[in-house]
Amino acid sequence: MIDDLTELTIKDAARLLRLGSISSAELVTAHVERIERLDPHVKAYLRFTPELWESQADEADRKIGQGEAPPLAGIPMAVKDVLCVRGVETTAGSQILRGFKPPYTATAVARLFEAGAVMLGVTNCDEFAMGSSTENSGYFPTRNPWDLDRVPGGSSGGSAAAVAAGEAMIALGSDTGGSIRQPAALCGVVGMKPTYGRVSRYGLIAFASSLDQIGPFARTVDDAAITLSLMAGFDPLDATSSDRPGLEVLNSSGGTVKGMRLGVPREYYDVKGIEPGVKAALDAALFILRNAGAEIVDVSLPHTDYGLAAYYIIAPAECSSNLARFDGVRYGLAEVDAPNITDEYMQTRRKGFGTEVRRRVMLGTYALSSGYYDAYYLKAQKVRTLIKRDFDEAFKKCDAIVSATSPTVAFPIGSKTQDPLSMYLCDVLTLGGNLAGLPGISVPCGTSDGLPVGLQVLGPQWGESVVLRVARSYEEASEIRAEVASVV
Ligand code: GLN
Repeated sequence: MIDDLTELTIKDAARLLRLGSISSAELVTAHVERIERLDPHVKAYLRFTPELWESQADEADRKIGQGEAPPLAGIPMAVKDVLCVRGVETTAGSQILRGFKPPYTATAVARLFEAGAVMLGVTNCDEFAMGSSTENSGYFPTRNPWDLDRVPGGSSGGSAAAVAAGEAMIALGSDTGGSIRQPAALCGVVGMKPTYGRVSRYGLIAFASSLDQIGPFARTVDDAAITLSLMAGFDPLDATSSDRPGLEVLNSSGGTVKGMRLGVPREYYDVKGIEPGVKAALDAALFILRNAGAEIVDVSLPHTDYGLAAYYIIAPAECSSNLARFDGVRYGLAEVDAPNITDEYMQTRRKGFGTEVRRRVMLGTYALSSGYYDAYYLKAQKVRTLIKRDFDEAFKKCDAIVSATSPTVAFPIGSKTQDPLSMYLCDVLTLGGNLAGLPGISVPCGTSDGLPVGLQVLGPQWGESVVLRVARSYEEASEIRAEVASVV
């Protein structure tokens, strides 16, 4: 007898579905029942898509019945509110897009639908993916299933919380500075950001286009790998997407770290503000990796200190340009009572955007303005190059880089909202990977004070296979699995 259908991995579920022990409809119903019980507390979802889950589950059952099931047939999935799905209200966590129903579906989502995934609903996030706690959502904050008084991380906090609470088997997020890896760490699940260009961004509501990547949340490294492999690859609708190799290892089993050199950047290891419990969990993880045959080597990323400053110039600069389209004329909210068009723009944007989005649009517009462009934007781009070179140098000495994902465990709701700088510090270990365009994963690596800690593995560009190999070996050797949090 199968105890709980909400605790299965993709592999187990696929086997049971093919054997006919369960149907996709039953699998979906089990998740929906769990959502009904837990989501009023967790609040991972902004909205549900029953019309999709019914038709997609039927279709999956029909294909399984005919023996032609695609790889994700019947697998329940949650989608972050920044990925367009045709006919489904998509708002980027913002009031300005309330009621917006995209006329097309993001390529990443369309490919997973093609692979048989069943969409349960749209998950909460920080407005336009700006934040590290999901408290900047224009709707409500999501809660961490491990402790409902704490944040799930962000910006993809809804997706991470949904997987952690057993309210979805897999979920999609977007990562611009850490928004997949950091909430994965804080919720005790696996979250992966691929190499920039690995997954098409077509249909992703843009935050900072040179940094954004879409990636999966799952409960095992294999589940994340399967999901990623199915959405990756060139898409004529995104000129930055690529078919580069590097995903081969995904479908083979095993893989070991024996003989691999794993670099520990000293600037990450001793990063300011790292909690003792997080460091202890990292040390334990390094011990396990060493016992599994890896050589742990000391490396340096000397420009780490400047990463945060460069990121908070580049990301706001790009967002100020990307968000210019939300003007009350083309999409969503429109304040039409204004005396003239300029006032209409201003009133719409003042009413529709939250504090953090307005702060970033102002910062970015300032950094790009003539007279300040060279001093801020150009300088930040130069720092970005230096950071990329730091990683190039480090990868001459090691095959992959390991660190904590977040310097802290999940923090209490409200504890950082008055201090944007302390919130920005949540990404100090993740945003280098975005500035350099590298693949990275966060896997559960134990707890500190009863709250999950994440281990981050970063690889060279197009080196997903390396990242996944290290993550999977660690998962196997540590015997630490993402648990479905019990919530209430
Ligand atoms: N927390 C970072 C920010 O607010 C990263 C967000 C993200 O990765 N989308 O910009």
